[in-house]
Amino acid sequence: MLKLPPDFIFSQASLQDFLTCPRRFYLRYVRHLVWPSAGGGEAFEWEWRLSLAQDFHHLAHQKALGLPDQLLEPLVQKRSAELFQWWRQLREFWQAEQEATLGGRRYPELTLTAPLGKIRLLAKYDLLIAHPDGQWSIIDWKTAQQRPSTRALHSLVQSRLYPYLLVRAGASLNAGKAVEPEQVSMVYWFANHPDNPETILYSQAQFQADEDFLLRLTEEILGRREADFEQTSDERACAYCPYRTYCERAFVPPSSYEVEENAELLELSLPQDWEQIGEIEY
Ligand code: SF4
Repeated sequence: MLKLPPDFIFSQASLQDFLTCPRRFYLRYVRHLVWPSAGGGEAFEWEWRLSLAQDFHHLAHQKALGLPDQLLEPLVQKRSAELFQWWRQLREFWQAEQEATLGGRRYPELTLTAPLGKIRLLAKYDLLIAHPDGQWSIIDWKTAQQRPSTRALHSLVQSRLYPYLLVRAGASLNAGKAVEPEQVSMVYWFANHPDNPETILYSQAQFQADEDFLLRLTEEILGRREADFEQTSDERACAYCPYRTYCERAFVPPSSYEVEENAELLELSLPQDWEQIGEIEY
């Protein structure tokens, strides 16, 4: 049986890591192994893109807190042309949707947790909106260059865990009243594809399916012995993984992926998500 610290909390990042590569989960969350990235031109490019994604999330947070655009804009302009372009898209989205998707009580960078079986789950939301009609929107900012397919997005652990935890733990934000699954939707907004967001509607049936899925998945992780966390057989998952040299895996650039669902999922599970939502400590 696996031994995790008693205060270990499962997040979408750790669960997605396990599904992508059990070894990566083991090295990062059980061994807490710090390993330098392999370096090289592609890795530097990736790190630069990662820092832009972090800056964008920080910017969106500040905007949601109500900081005036005039204060934020000069700082963005200085940073990079790409970040400035994302910022302009965000501003337009905000303007167009302030009474609809973004209309209501806003909770930026909010964390919810709840127990499930023997473990505890955590979600850190980019932005939660409580609409005046009782509906809830989970907004998630994505900065990937390619717009992932609907199917790939639905397959993400994030798409299951985030609505699930809002239903399980949202009463604290809702005057003590439970949030019903049918009141919840999740919106992925893409800085590089601002006119093509993805909205996922939640339901009681999906809530039940997600609870079963999360329970099974976490029980499987806890039931493994340390030697059972195998390396993924799909070496595309190793691109930019900090353990690539440790695992003696060659670099396979994501641009060489064929466009199919597994490849999209692998790209979405690359390290950008580890850092940008601040879950690394879990
Ligand atoms: S380098 Fe590849 S095999 Fe090793 S932990 Fe990372 S994803 Fe898994």
